[in-house]
Amino acid sequence: MATNKNKGQKCSFCGRDKKDTLLLIAGVEGHICEACVEQAFEIVDEELGAKSKNKSNYSFKLPTGTTPAKIKSFLDQYIIGQNESKKYLSVSVYNHYKRLNQKSTDDIEIEKSNILFVGQTGTGKTLLAKTIAKYLNVPFSIVDATVFTEAGYVGEDVESMLSRLLQAADYNVEAAQKGIVYIDEIDKIARKRDNPSITRDVSGEGVQQALLKMLEGTEVNVPPYGGRKHPEQKMIQVNTSNILFIMGGAFDGISKIIAKRLNTQVIGFNNNKEDLTNEENLLKYLSHQDLKAYGLIPELIGRMPVLTYLNPLDQETLVRILTEPKNALVKQYEKLFALEGIKLTIENDAVNYIAKMAMEYKLGARGLRSILEAILTDAMFELPSQADIKEFSVDELYASEQLKRSSISKLKVA
Ligand code: ADP
Repeated sequence: MATNKNKGQKCSFCGRDKKDTLLLIAGVEGHICEACVEQAFEIVDEELGAKSKNKSNYSFKLPTGTTPAKIKSFLDQYIIGQNESKKYLSVSVYNHYKRLNQKSTDDIEIEKSNILFVGQTGTGKTLLAKTIAKYLNVPFSIVDATVFTEAGYVGEDVESMLSRLLQAADYNVEAAQKGIVYIDEIDKIARKRDNPSITRDVSGEGVQQALLKMLEGTEVNVPPYGGRKHPEQKMIQVNTSNILFIMGGAFDGISKIIAKRLNTQVIGFNNNKEDLTNEENLLKYLSHQDLKAYGLIPELIGRMPVLTYLNPLDQETLVRILTEPKNALVKQYEKLFALEGIKLTIENDAVNYIAKMAMEYKLGARGLRSILEAILTDAMFELPSQADIKEFSVDELYASEQLKRSSISKLKVA
């Protein structure tokens, strides 16, 4: 079958001349060169290999004996505090799975329980979503609502969020259709409250309408690689009815809306001992009504039946975040040093100091890692070349000196 004899022959795939190839294989009507054979092999392996791997990897049933309480105790291993949100998330995921596996014997159809987390940045919204996806072993993707705009404007189509889910599922459509999408910064697509008629609201209401359809459950044509849809592109059809959408947003200023509502609604509320200037206390009273006042359209709010809030993190919680979760930062650094044969101890006073500085720099939990990195970089640089050192201890004094020398200390807020 292999012919290297005839002149003027070309590879029918890449067009290379026979003289430029090592081998040209003849078919019934054309030829293929060795490079195209290799490439074709890779494509076949990627497409069929991934498909067969994925099918067995994902499971769409909860392990036998799972209860909402068990789901919550899994979340407890990774997320400190935020009990309210963990409870809501556990129940709604539990119900989601009951819904997925229901046998429709009557007309009662259980509706999806999409979730909205409201809480300041760095309080664990994304972590909650990521952890639940890990527990469930389903395709999971995180998207940022700020990139979406109405069709025809610079930005991305809302449908492109499903492209990421498809990518996460290695293009296994069946798996993606039962996956979880976490939409971050959902508050940024709120209808602009100022000057609604002057500026066109291209990333607001139109995007909410498009999102609404997806939350309701519909067949969506998804551009496989994201971005804008265009007519020549091959689309993949995805049904969103069984995709669980988890949304998160800081909703800056929503406490004012809550306070206003409470003051007008509850007569004599001010006599209540509760401190209404405290954001944490106010978020407790968060209701769907406040989201409407913030600029989300009522239809969309109606599709987020589970609404919960995350508390701002105080110093004590930050200390617990540093030390308690399964993959706590302190544990991670201890492991890094242990791999080098060194026993690292971060003293309690140092841990408290790190939490205090994260509060001071207003970095929240997100800042803990940068602070630890700044404190430990010198040690991580020097110790591997000092074979005789087997133990290393960090106290508050060492931590504060290291931090002062690092660039992160310039973040200090006056
Ligand atoms: P958000 O999505 O609310 O802005 P993230 O979930 O991304 O915040 O949190 C940022 C980082 O802070 C996480 O990677 C995690 O390490 C840490 N973190 C935040 N809140 C918690 C918490 N309650 N428990 C444990 N870690 C947390």
